[in-house]
Amino acid sequence: MNDTDVLVVGAGPTGLTLTASLLNQGIQAAIVDKLPAGANTSRAAVANARSLEVLENLDVSWRMVKAGLVAPRFSMRQGDRTLIPIDFSTLPTNYPYSLMISQADTERLLEERLNELGGEVLRPKTLSRIAQDSTGVTAIFDDGETLRASYVVGADGTHSTVRHQAGIGFAGGEFAESFALADVRVAGEAPRDEVILFYGNDGLTVLAPLPDGVFRIVAPHPDAPQSPTAEFVQDLLDTRAFGPGRTEVTDLLWGSRFKIHHRVADTFRAGRILLAGDAAHVHSPAGGQGMNLGITDAIELATALATTLHGAPDTALDAYSASQRARAQQVLTLTGRLTRVSTLPRPLRPIRNSAMRLAAHVPAVRRQLAWRLSGLVYR
Ligand SMILES: Cc1cc2nc3c(=O)[nH]c(=O)nc-3n(C[C@H](O)[C@H](O)[C@H](O)COP(=O)(O)OP(=O)(O)OC[C@H]3O[C@@H](n4cnc5c(N)ncnc54)[C@H](O)[C@@H]3O)c2cc1C
Repeated sequence: MNDTDVLVVGAGPTGLTLTASLLNQGIQAAIVDKLPAGANTSRAAVANARSLEVLENLDVSWRMVKAGLVAPRFSMRQGDRTLIPIDFSTLPTNYPYSLMISQADTERLLEERLNELGGEVLRPKTLSRIAQDSTGVTAIFDDGETLRASYVVGADGTHSTVRHQAGIGFAGGEFAESFALADVRVAGEAPRDEVILFYGNDGLTVLAPLPDGVFRIVAPHPDAPQSPTAEFVQDLLDTRAFGPGRTEVTDLLWGSRFKIHHRVADTFRAGRILLAGDAAHVHSPAGGQGMNLGITDAIELATALATTLHGAPDTALDAYSASQRARAQQVLTLTGRLTRVSTLPRPLRPIRNSAMRLAAHVPAVRRQLAWRLSGLVYR
């Protein structure tokens, strides 16, 4: 007898969605996380239309919409000039917008729903090793405890122990440039209903609204400091956004620097061990796809596991691995392109911007971008 049907390792957005969805379908599931409490740092800032659609069955979408900020507009600009406007309003969905919400809030709402469904995150509890045989998987934790499950899912992020233990490769690489990231309050020009990617000749800057009057700034920079200062962010806005003095940083809440990896696991399934979320794929945050892809992995995997555990052949698990891996590769292609376009050498940037303005005249280009960024293309 196994202790549980499914052990989920990692209580980020992927693991929480997966566990809640399993419980919602009557499957026994346990979830562990090595952290004593949920992380409170600023990470993903956007929930897209597809995530909100798939979270409807879990009764979580309306809670997120209530806690977040609706941004119906998304544009690529150079200063005041719009290069490519992206219109979500015509998309056939109940959520024709980007929902701006901090990852900490998304996790809090998912955990709240998990608790309502009778689940609880066991923490702090760190997985050290796993061993599988024909009837299940034995998980061994750093406190010496063991747990036996029919299936184990690694939703344990980029440095996944589950992936390492299963011997699954994680091929890919790293973009050369560093990115600066900051959450700030500003005065002056900064729309609250629009996510803007400024393609300035000095480089890219993202200016995205968050709830409570906060804005997220993201920018590739060859000398991005470990902790960007208010002056550094002000310079980014002056040189790359609307123009000098037009948007003033009044408060720096948080800042960091990061490098971007692009990797996909060789497979999302090795027998009774499965991968989902960042454990299975990492890529550029351009277009805000990372957490959203993890949430759709979780929903698809919950259905595949429920089907299998209800007695069907386990081919649904292979289908999960093949289809979500293919999606991850498509997302890597899209976000890789957006990143490369934004980090082109300076002499090529005016040519790039002219090409973007021309491309904007083709309705199919704008439509494709809207479908991909909203995640609806993966329905
Ligand atoms: C600075 C920053 C900015 C980002 N911006 C965006 C953005 O704008 N848009 C976007 O979509 N994405 C963004 N991301 C990425 C996004 O945060 C991730 O895609 C998302 O967190 C993935 O969720 P996950 O649940 O798969 O993994 P994670 O959130 O990494 O969760 C994994 C969990 O597993 C736990 N864990 C790890 N190892 C073990 C173990 N051995 N035992 C037990 N528990 C373990 C960890 O404690 C963690 O809680 C950003 C990330 C960072 C760091």
